[in-house]
Amino acid sequence: MMYDCVVIGGGPAGLTAAIYLARFHLSVIVVDHCQGRAASIPITYNLAGFPEGIPGRDLVRRMRIQAERYGAHLRISEVTSLKRNGDIFIATANDEFIVARAVLLASGVVNHRPPMSDERHADALAKGLIRYCPVCDGFEITDKNIGVLGTGERAFNEALFLRSFTSRITLIAPEGAHDLIGEQLLTLARYRIESFAGPVAGIELEEDKITVKLTDRVLTFASIYAAMGSDVRSELAAALGATRTAAGCVEVDRHQRTTVTGLYAAGDVVLGLDQISSAMGQASVAATTIRNDLCKQRIILRS
Ligand SMILES: Cc1cc2nc3c(=O)[nH]c(=O)nc-3n(C[C@H](O)[C@H](O)[C@H](O)COP(=O)(O)OP(=O)(O)OC[C@H]3O[C@@H](n4cnc5c(N)ncnc54)[C@H](O)[C@@H]3O)c2cc1C
Repeated sequence: MMYDCVVIGGGPAGLTAAIYLARFHLSVIVVDHCQGRAASIPITYNLAGFPEGIPGRDLVRRMRIQAERYGAHLRISEVTSLKRNGDIFIATANDEFIVARAVLLASGVVNHRPPMSDERHADALAKGLIRYCPVCDGFEITDKNIGVLGTGERAFNEALFLRSFTSRITLIAPEGAHDLIGEQLLTLARYRIESFAGPVAGIELEEDKITVKLTDRVLTFASIYAAMGSDVRSELAAALGATRTAAGCVEVDRHQRTTVTGLYAAGDVVLGLDQISSAMGQASVAATTIRNDLCKQRIILRS
């Protein structure tokens, strides 16, 4: 079967696009490896329309139901290769070849985690002891004692951002000395943000606190934010020659087109705010662009 569009990734970006594409009467398949950031959110409180909050897993489940209701096909699998043959794309997922006229890459990013097993990490996330996104849940840590794990510009900026939610912030370099310049150290001192060098020798979890062991001290927090960077899942776009930023984000125009004709991108894989709402917004633009671009090749008429 030739699909109008294959969507790679079934998080908020991919599923929003699938809902739009299916409702445009286009044939769409979503291939999802189910390792997304949205599905890992214990509960999100900043998504408009959910005043009591909604667990990420429930949100994704609802979006899947909605996409399927309009005819989108969903496949649990990983796309391991993406090739272009003339005007069509061939995605390989678990020995299956999926052929489509257009591709939307909505594969997200993977956060670098503190050193701990998957099981303990999931437990820490569920209890809000480890967090990744101050924009998302800074409100929830208001006036609490918070650690920020990371160093350099990224962690420095994250600690400063969090300073408007709480006055009790400690910046910890996970591996050794901090990689901060004198001016940054002065700024930390001015805003009363303590900083300690690693290495982190261990992390202990309790019901409502998390303890970080350094070689010379033990620090206990209500939560820690991991500001340790991430890997952008843009390798499939790169294999087709799409332009990426230095950080690995896929470059798109204001209609979510990449530099490869027929390949579009939306969500965290694209440079942006990395929020559910912006992933959905980009996906709605991408889906409408895909529909309009496909119409230029082959007018879609209802018989
Ligand atoms: C702990 C945490 C809490 C957060 N809280 C909030 C919040 O409260 N509010 C908010 O707005 N945002 C929050 N975010 C950010 C939010 O999760 C992301 O911005 C959002 O999920 C981006 O959607 P996405 O569809 O681009 O990516 P994702 O949700 O990450 O989905 C990408 C999907 O693509 C799949 N995939 C990747 N590569 C392939 C492949 N080759 N083949 C098949 N599938 C593939 C992945 O497995 C995954 O299922 C939070 C993030 C984290 C980590």
